[in-house]
Amino acid sequence: MAIVRTVLGDIDSSALGRTNAHEHLFIRNGLILILEPDFRLDSEANAVSEVADFRSHGGEAIIETSPLGVGRDPEGLVSVSQATGVHVIAATGFHKPRYYLDSHWRNRLAAEQIAQLFIEEIEVGMDAYGFEAPFRNTTPARAGVIKAASDYQHFTTAIRTGFEAAALAHAQTGAPILTHTEMGTMAHQQIELLRRHGVSPAHVVLSHVDRNPDWMLHRDLAQTGAFLEYDGPSRIKYLPESAVMDLISKMFELGLGSQILLGGDTARRSYWKANGGSTGIAYILERFIPRLRKEGFPAQAIDAMLVGNPARAFAFRDDRKSTN
Ligand SMILES: [Zn+2]
Repeated sequence: MAIVRTVLGDIDSSALGRTNAHEHLFIRNGLILILEPDFRLDSEANAVSEVADFRSHGGEAIIETSPLGVGRDPEGLVSVSQATGVHVIAATGFHKPRYYLDSHWRNRLAAEQIAQLFIEEIEVGMDAYGFEAPFRNTTPARAGVIKAASDYQHFTTAIRTGFEAAALAHAQTGAPILTHTEMGTMAHQQIELLRRHGVSPAHVVLSHVDRNPDWMLHRDLAQTGAFLEYDGPSRIKYLPESAVMDLISKMFELGLGSQILLGGDTARRSYWKANGGSTGIAYILERFIPRLRKEGFPAQAIDAMLVGNPARAFAFRDDRKSTN
């Protein structure tokens, strides 16, 4: 049995249900908020209201992809999950280096040392303050995914170290890896770097790749076995939803629909209905899926993107076959 690790404990991956594969519920502090004040998500009541709305539209699971250093809130995630009945998978790992001061420990420690912290978060419990307090604040909630991020068309030493640490933590724990791509770039390089450190692409989710809706690129990425997470819907400042719909059609036509995941990435307070926004965390289920249905997308394809594919993508590596 493959498991996924939620903040409330491990469950069979088949119990995950309709999943928003890239979301943010808490971004409470950090350099990220000085750079972009609209990213501030600091209200548990509003998070509960957004997730309850997602639930009322049939949502059952959320992958919360806020890693260390960007104001993540493990205890808040437990409360939101308990209040709404929605499974929440939390992230350890790092966002892109731009969101961290040069003095942050991520820029000082070796990949092996960083990996030990990721492993602790996956196996023991997440640190309430992201290892930034002068002592440990281990919570009972464990991380279920490792985040790694790169810049636009660019890898730096800090980025490589983050990916290496993610790979080492994956080797030890079997936890899946979810990456941030900037405008969909460097995805092949991410896969290669992780592969060189022993990670099978089958345990890698590439986020935001639809920012570059190049179906030939997506075909090649999906053929490695990696998952492609699309979160363009609602964020039409980047591309029209019809472009994402065309891309999804093409991927299913190519027989690669099994690698596609849908996310909201509703990471701005101004997007949340609770703050007067018009889209919110329920958007994918409330508005985008109905558009797909209206255009004749088969129910089976929609179910694959929402249920079957995330159950495989976020499952921990099951080594029993190789060790027995
Ligand atoms: Zn995100």
